[in-house]
Amino acid sequence: MSVRVRFAPSPTGYIHAGNVRAAVVTWLFAKKHNGHFLLRIDDTDLERSKDEYEQDIEAGLMWLGLAWDEKARQRDRMDRYAAVIADLKAKGRLYDCYETQEELALKRKAQLAQGLPPIYDRAALKLTQEQKEKFTAQGRRPHWRFKLVDGAIEWDDMIRGPVKFDTKDMSDPVLIREDGSPLYHLCSVIDDIDHDITHVIRGEDHVSNTAMHIQMFKAIGRETPPQFAHMPMIMDAEGGKLSKRLGSLSVKDLRENEGLEPMAIISFLALLGSSESIEPFTEIGPLLEKFDVSKFSKGAPKFDLEELIRLNAKVIHQMPFSAVCTRLAEMGLSTLDEHFWNAVRPNLTRLADIMDWWTVAHGPVAPAIDDPAFIGQAASLLPPAPWTETTWKEWTDAVKAATGRKGKDLFMPLRRALTGMDHGPELAVLLPLIGPEKVMARLQGRREAA
Ligand code: GLU
Repeated sequence: MSVRVRFAPSPTGYIHAGNVRAAVVTWLFAKKHNGHFLLRIDDTDLERSKDEYEQDIEAGLMWLGLAWDEKARQRDRMDRYAAVIADLKAKGRLYDCYETQEELALKRKAQLAQGLPPIYDRAALKLTQEQKEKFTAQGRRPHWRFKLVDGAIEWDDMIRGPVKFDTKDMSDPVLIREDGSPLYHLCSVIDDIDHDITHVIRGEDHVSNTAMHIQMFKAIGRETPPQFAHMPMIMDAEGGKLSKRLGSLSVKDLRENEGLEPMAIISFLALLGSSESIEPFTEIGPLLEKFDVSKFSKGAPKFDLEELIRLNAKVIHQMPFSAVCTRLAEMGLSTLDEHFWNAVRPNLTRLADIMDWWTVAHGPVAPAIDDPAFIGQAASLLPPAPWTETTWKEWTDAVKAATGRKGKDLFMPLRRALTGMDHGPELAVLLPLIGPEKVMARLQGRREAA
């Protein structure tokens, strides 16, 4: 059996860490099994769905490198849904209900007051034709519920293990709104059938939906439902729920504001909450060997941005020059070479940090010289070229011996003369990159041209 999976986001908000995790895990699952990855846009909620969000989802996936083999949109499939609806009505599996939201809320309240679970009582099944006509004459439009078959519903979840529901604890789900539009559950199951989806990987907020979907698969004509994997929801670092509104963790923000690497995000989300330790990967191949859906635990993992940032640094420290040179050129650093990259790379947390190092190395720098006599003496003690990363120590040892200065009194004036700033990248790495000529010019207080 060839694996066919889908990532089915609703375009009702920017794609965020919580839902992109389902994308990462589903995509990796497809890659691991040489399968087919469908991007399905669940846009049945026409009011809340926006093109802007759909574009954001696509841009986010593309930036992460999660290419899809095929794309589908529920909005384009209304005819197919209408045909299935007609069939389910004919089979008596959809029934029309005329209760208003207020009436349903009252029923639930009364049930709860009696200590009963708030399950729909199927009163609509007892309506006579006459009563229905009366409702219609009053201007009421029916919504339609799917009639569950009594009994147990069971499946072996790839993450949760055996799961069991009983229909006596479930309400018949509403599949069609009063305006006649189909709801997510119906469209999703029809799509999963039509696309021959073999595995559904999604958040555990869908566990109870899966129970009713399993009966719907059968009613619509697919005897064996897909296999299911329900991932625990991600919590934020404080243990709260991650929501779409938690904008600081949208993919857009991770990319634009946090400046993180796609492979850091993928490495993090692929293993977060699994029994494998999180490691930095720069390529998918080795990650696939470690990745296994069945290794996810049932406990909710925490999404700690600081941890992701630390992982980002580790990913960058492994990235070869060839992997970044195009992006460096886009940042205006087309003359930055492999030697510079290799020297500076271990000090970067984010790629953008390289800008500080480049500016200090190449200028323009306005040297800040507060004690010209000291700086002049230091200049006369510069070791001869060629310089390496040990030159800084050699030099400052010599300056220390000659002047008796140490600690901050020794380093700060040198830093200020060489960089014009009180803090910044490590000078041991920078000194050979700045080079003897520029170092001497800066120590002499010469301002560089922009
Ligand atoms: N549109 C649904 C969601 O974003 C899809 C769930 C599913 O994978 O079926 O939650």
